[in-house]
Amino acid sequence: MRSDRDQQSLSYPLRLPNEAQADALRLLDVSREVVNTVITSLWPRLDEFSTRETRYAYKQVEEMMSSPVAHGHRQWRCEAEQAGRILRGQAERKSAFALILPILEQGMIQPKTEAKRAGKNRKAIKQALTDLREANSDGGNAVELQSLIEQACNFYLVNGCFPESYEQMQTIPVLKTGILPYAGDDGPAMGQSYRMQIDLEQKQVTLAIRYPDEAGQWARTWREKTTKMALPEQILARLKQGEALAPSLREINQPDGTRSAVLDFIVQVPVTEAASWSSMRSVLGFDWGVRTLVTASVVDLEGHQVGRPFFLDTGPFDGRQARTRRQIDLLKSKVARLEARRDGFPEGDPRLTPTTRQLAVLRREIAQCWRKYEARNKDLAHLAANVLLLLATASGCELIAGESLKSMKSTGRGRNAQGRWRNWRNNAQIRGELWHTLRYKCFLSGIRLEWQQPRKTSHTCPHCGKPADTYRSPAHLDTVNDWGAWLVCSNSQCQWNGSRDYAASLNIARLGATEILHAQTTGRIFHPSIADAAVKAVSYMGTVAVLRLPPPVPRGRLLYAGRIYLNGWRNSVKLRSSYSTETMLKLCG
Ligand SMILES: [Zn+2]
Repeated sequence: MRSDRDQQSLSYPLRLPNEAQADALRLLDVSREVVNTVITSLWPRLDEFSTRETRYAYKQVEEMMSSPVAHGHRQWRCEAEQAGRILRGQAERKSAFALILPILEQGMIQPKTEAKRAGKNRKAIKQALTDLREANSDGGNAVELQSLIEQACNFYLVNGCFPESYEQMQTIPVLKTGILPYAGDDGPAMGQSYRMQIDLEQKQVTLAIRYPDEAGQWARTWREKTTKMALPEQILARLKQGEALAPSLREINQPDGTRSAVLDFIVQVPVTEAASWSSMRSVLGFDWGVRTLVTASVVDLEGHQVGRPFFLDTGPFDGRQARTRRQIDLLKSKVARLEARRDGFPEGDPRLTPTTRQLAVLRREIAQCWRKYEARNKDLAHLAANVLLLLATASGCELIAGESLKSMKSTGRGRNAQGRWRNWRNNAQIRGELWHTLRYKCFLSGIRLEWQQPRKTSHTCPHCGKPADTYRSPAHLDTVNDWGAWLVCSNSQCQWNGSRDYAASLNIARLGATEILHAQTTGRIFHPSIADAAVKAVSYMGTVAVLRLPPPVPRGRLLYAGRIYLNGWRNSVKLRSSYSTETMLKLCG
């Protein structure tokens, strides 16, 4: 469980066999209560969790309190580990909150004698915030900060003032579903609360967990009650590269009330070293589109565009997501009608029973639709990340340049379901999903991923570098439209025109190329802005034709990139990518 930069922990959920479910769920219920008792008791001492002397959270908790119940020391350690991880995360959020609060309050609170304090500190606060962002310069933290800001603003909207402390707006974060990390135990062979044996030849894992029986007694013979689970190829491949870490037991709670237990099987693998700047010759730039999800272009260090641009259009996908949204809306209105009818029946009315049953069915259907909706979004993020990696590899790019997450582009103002989906697609959530997925996949494959300053990248001509206006389409050049999909260079010597997303992807690639050159000559990393003189204009190789709107992607064909050509992703691209069960685990330390 090292936090070394060259190590990466991957987690794979394995559903426990049916015969082990009841015991595991009972165990999770018991441990959840303990975890929640710890969180609640130590919540007033949250600040102490902002300093860490050990990577094990349980050690910190053990110094502060002892187990509220006597059910085995190693069991307690695992529970303390979970509680400690949550408290550490909250302590981090709290320090970030201390930074943003004075900024939020500025100008909103009537000046009293002390009122200038925040103003005086403004510079320092700004600097601190910048540092905080830089520490995680791809914008990951910015997204987290955003959720904090939203939380504070919601508090303001309800209460008419900002919270005086973090704790005032944050309820105690108790667990709603159980999770038990075995990291506090003594390892798979010696563990006092679990035993685990991996058999690579048989491709299976044998697991035994210590659990309380139905009467609450902890079984002494738990080591003999083993269960076997098959290890999928994916995990086996990872195990060959790395080693298994202590797993976690986790409860999954379906919206319809069904519960099940999974084992999060965790593998630590070494990460390929990131590409060195000196060997880089070209860069892949990508942009989040207005019309297309991702547009990518490759530019070399001399400022030549290499190959054709790539578009990931999501037309049919948008349609399907929109249909699911409509279905949800429809089901919701049905629920509302039924509820109204039910409330009209007197108590004990025989018509109540079928109505209640019908309501339960509808609610289950709604939950199912949401699950489908969210799973598709995740798949899309994985698909986009895979495609970008594939393109970078195919064109020999060791750097992928993307737009920083910090910019919030709002697009698709449509009021219909498709417009709403487009809106949602472009919000921080799905961008974050793609960014994190891409970052982690690049990390594993040794490709560098660097954010670029997004300012003006979609309003600058990639060919001559002069500011450019955008328009609705080539047929609407009489009115400038800031959100228009068509960019036209106003420089009479140049007059380049093309899809706005395409222009942005070229500009972002130009920024990446400048970054490479800067690193190669100075050895330092620097993120130029599009206005910097060092950013080279892109000249064209003869093969590239100017693009027409809409992007030249027949609706039935989703992917188009020179020769990489897939007919309908349902046939050619596995929607649920092999990575979809992997998540980046932030282990303590
Ligand atoms: Zn131009």
